This record gives sequence, C-alpha cells and structure tokens, in this order.
Amino acid sequence: HQQITNSGDSDSIKVFVRVRPLTQGTGLTTDGDQGLCLTVTSPNTIRLHSKPEPRTFTYDHVADMDITQDSVFSSVAKNIVESCINGYNGTIFAYGQTGSGKTFTMLGPSDFDNFTDDQRGVIPRSFEYLFFLIDRESENAKSFLCKCSFIEIYNEQIYDLLDSASASLFLRENIKKGVFVEGAVEKFVTSAAEAYQVLSMGWRNRRVASTSMNRESSRSHAVFTMTLESKEPAKEVVNIRTSQLNLVDLAGSERQRDTHTEGSRLKEASSINRSLMCLGQVIMALVDVSNGKSRHICYRDSKLTFLLRDSLGGNAKTYIIANVHPGSKCFGETLSTLQFAQRAK
Ligand code: ADP
Ligand code: MG
Repeated sequence: HQQITNSGDSDSIKVFVRVRPLTQGTGLTTDGDQGLCLTVTSPNTIRLHSKPEPRTFTYDHVADMDITQDSVFSSVAKNIVESCINGYNGTIFAYGQTGSGKTFTMLGPSDFDNFTDDQRGVIPRSFEYLFFLIDRESENAKSFLCKCSFIEIYNEQIYDLLDSASASLFLRENIKKGVFVEGAVEKFVTSAAEAYQVLSMGWRNRRVASTSMNRESSRSHAVFTMTLESKEPAKEVVNIRTSQLNLVDLAGSERQRDTHTEGSRLKEASSINRSLMCLGQVIMALVDVSNGKSRHICYRDSKLTFLLRDSLGGNAKTYIIANVHPGSKCFGETLSTLQFAQRAK
C-alpha cells in the first residue's frame, strides 16, 4: 500500500457554503411557513435533514444565515486578492439554484449600485482591497496596471457586457495571453471607484439583454475579470508579472428536466447543464491531480472552463461559494448543491 504524497497545494480549491435567510428578499410571504431542511452544526459542517437518516457534509467553511457580507469577503476573497497582487491567478465562483443568493453574495442586494452600502458584496469589496494593496505596494516602487473585462456566457455563446452592441465573441489562445476572449473591451481602471463604474455598466447591460434580447440572466454565467500587470524595477531588468482575478456569478444550478421545454429553450437548458457539469468534472479532475493522480482535464468541453483554464489548477487559487436555501421546499436543490460542492473536497 503506497502512500501518495501530495505534490501541489491540495487546498488550491476551497469551498465555502453560505445559507441564505429563509424569507428575506424572496417576495413570497409563504416562504416563512416552511420548515428548515438543514442545520449548520459547526463552522465547517452542515446537516441536511434527509430521510431516513440525516446527512452531514464537511467543507472549508459553512456560514449560517446571519453572516455579514464583510465576513464572507474576508473568508473567501482576501487571500485570493493578495495572491493576485503577488502574481498568481485566482477565481471565485458563486454556485447555487436561482434565488439562493449568488448575486447577493457577489454583487449585493438586487438593483444594486450603491457601493457604499454595507450590503455590498464580494466583487466591490475585492476592488477596494485590491487598490488598498496596490497603493501600499507603490510605496515600494512597485507599480500596477489594471484592466477589467466583463462578459456573459449564455447558451455557449460569449457576449461582451461592456459593449452591448457587439455580436457574440470567440475564445482564442496564444502563448503570451493564454486563453482570452477575442475583441472583448478592456477598461483600464486606477481606483476602486472606477472599477465600480465598469461593474455597474456591465450589470446594467446584463439586465437590458435579459429583457430585450431574451438572455435570461438566471441562465447565464457572468464573468468579471481583472487583469493585473505588475512592474518591479529590479537591479538590472524590470520584472513584469501578469495575473488575473475572475469573479463569476454562475447560472442557476436548478435541474431543468421537469420543465416541459422544447426547441430553443431545451437547447438553452442543456447547455447550462453542460457547462456546470463540465465545471464539476474539471474540479474533480483537479482535486485528483493535486492528490498526485494523473488525469486529463477537459477544459475545452465548455466555454466557461476553457476561458478560465489558466485560472483553475496549477498555482491558481479557487474558491467556490455554494449558496443554499434552507427552506424544506428547496431540499432537492440544496442536496444537489451540497453534492456538487463536495466534489471539490
Ligand atoms: P440568485 O442570484 O442566486 O438568483 P439573489 O442573490 O438574487 O439569488 O437572491 C434572491 C433574493 O434574496 C434577492 O432579493 C436578494 O437580495 C435576497 N437575498 C439573498 N441572499 C440574501 C442574504 N444573505 N441576506 C439578505 N437577502 C438576501
Ligand atoms: Mg442572480
């Protein structure tokens, strides 16, 4: 029996489970009537009230309904933002069924563009921390160039949220840039305030596309990417490092099989399942690799995983925030989210 030694950082993919409040913001007064389908039993375990036996799941962190936006940010994003400053890529995903709090977690309350609000989410807080660190580094003569892009993946097509007039775009790869969206707008930003503006503009475009172009936003992945280029004047040569921070609000993970979808709706449903399924497979393969097994990783099987190829695995850091609804009516979807999240462990 041979002990497999762990070559890499087995913790390069972490999972944070967040339980949303039962009633807040659902607009459904009946929501409070249902019982709870789960209990948070410790800072890293959750018990699902399944029949006949309850099931306990363990993650890097489990947060109950009363967690603040600031603590979510501190647990999930601080470390990743710091490693981006040091030249490593990072990705934060929000996964979960529609209504489980993905957008609340990443951006803030719905129809949100007040970035001084206490309820602002992981993305605006990451901007603030990033520029705080950049200002600090610049005292050591290290300088940074930051640019943002913001795209939406819908039905395996890529749309630019910073240029609502553009047709769908394609992924390309080259040695210098790795995988990138060809022709996507990149906005240079020099402060958190400028980054908020880019975020709000893209978010507004996403909402517009959702009504006017029928790109229902619960069925699309929104990917905000901050690319950092750092210059460090060394003794003789100037050291330039590039890293990326990807902040991803995933499509709703709910199963579509029980809706009587046909034609284009069906195509839509199946491609969403495909990219989330593919993400799950890539994550499982990465976990195997970090445990010393050799595995082929199918990044190319979906637009999402191919786009993020250079920010998943290797030296990159990934955090998955699995958002769950505690209501007993959501038992099935909550179980499936907990199982998805379990794959990364
Ligand atoms: P999703 O993006 O997963 O579909 P949302 O983030 O839009 O879900 O959440 C649905 C509703 O519930 C929104 O009105 C949101 O503001 C509210 N909500 C979600 N999570 C929380 C939370 N932790 N605290 C307060 N309100 C929340
Ligand atoms: Mg949402």
